[in-house]
Amino acid sequence: MWIYLNDRFVPREEAKVSVFDHGFLYGDGVYETLRAYAGRLFMLSRHIARLYRSAHRIGLQIPLSEHDWPALLDESLVRNGLAKDPNRPDHDPQDAYIRITVSRGEGDIGLDPSLCPRPTLVIFAKPLTPFPPHLYERGVRLSIVPVRRNLATALPPSVKSLNFLNNILAKQEATKAGAFDGLMLNAEGALAECTASNLFFVRQGCLCTPALACGILDGITREVVMSLGREQGIPLDEGAYKPESLLEADECFLTNTTMEIMPVSEVDETRIGTGRPGPLTRRLQSLFRHNLPRLLS
Ligand code: PLP
Repeated sequence: MWIYLNDRFVPREEAKVSVFDHGFLYGDGVYETLRAYAGRLFMLSRHIARLYRSAHRIGLQIPLSEHDWPALLDESLVRNGLAKDPNRPDHDPQDAYIRITVSRGEGDIGLDPSLCPRPTLVIFAKPLTPFPPHLYERGVRLSIVPVRRNLATALPPSVKSLNFLNNILAKQEATKAGAFDGLMLNAEGALAECTASNLFFVRQGCLCTPALACGILDGITREVVMSLGREQGIPLDEGAYKPESLLEADECFLTNTTMEIMPVSEVDETRIGTGRPGPLTRRLQSLFRHNLPRLLS
């Protein structure tokens, strides 16, 4: 495995980061997770734009220009055998999981970012481990967890930061409850999002999703699903919803880059709709797949 570290590709064994890195010490940094389909990156420019937005929000200067990323990510895929190779026309690369991490960098102890002269940049690409097909066929169970989503005025969920403890605490609660994932409410008790995915539900034909103002990550798959819905004239509502609206929903699903559209069949002890992936969920899944080629670069 070849990993890009700061300014060059190194073998995995040599990809080491200092114990004084402020990403390690304080969770000070940002990241992105991308997916490649047979070597082609999904919504690349949106992921890179979000990386820069996150960095900007925490006053972190990324030591590369936005234009440098396509070539760098391509090289990452090529070096790891995850892209098409003109010399091997029969080679069909596996889908890939790509993680970009930019931390504040190495510096003395202390919270002041100016202690770190140079950010640390890491890119790795590895074969994607897909979610088992039976989850897509049956739908997953969520648990509404006691842990609330970070206040946007404290640690904005719109920043994809290395400080992920809020989500990890929620994940632990979900695991305790035997659920696939934990659904977090915001401080006002409105539905927010899961630990690494956005929430959608369907009520009387209307596709509902918590608004960004509820304090969530502006998911890129969320954006894609919303625009596919709009193109099809499906009624769409972004709002602040109480958990009861979800429990009375006809359908529910989650979105994220690596899982795409995952049906939800149960929330705690409540069955959603028929307890099977619903017709609008199925339709959006197939629209997503159908439109995928134009979303790849
Ligand atoms: N919400 C959170 C907290 C996430 O971490 C993620 C992605 O990892 C998402 C939502 C989904 O975002 P995207 O569709 O851009 O992958």
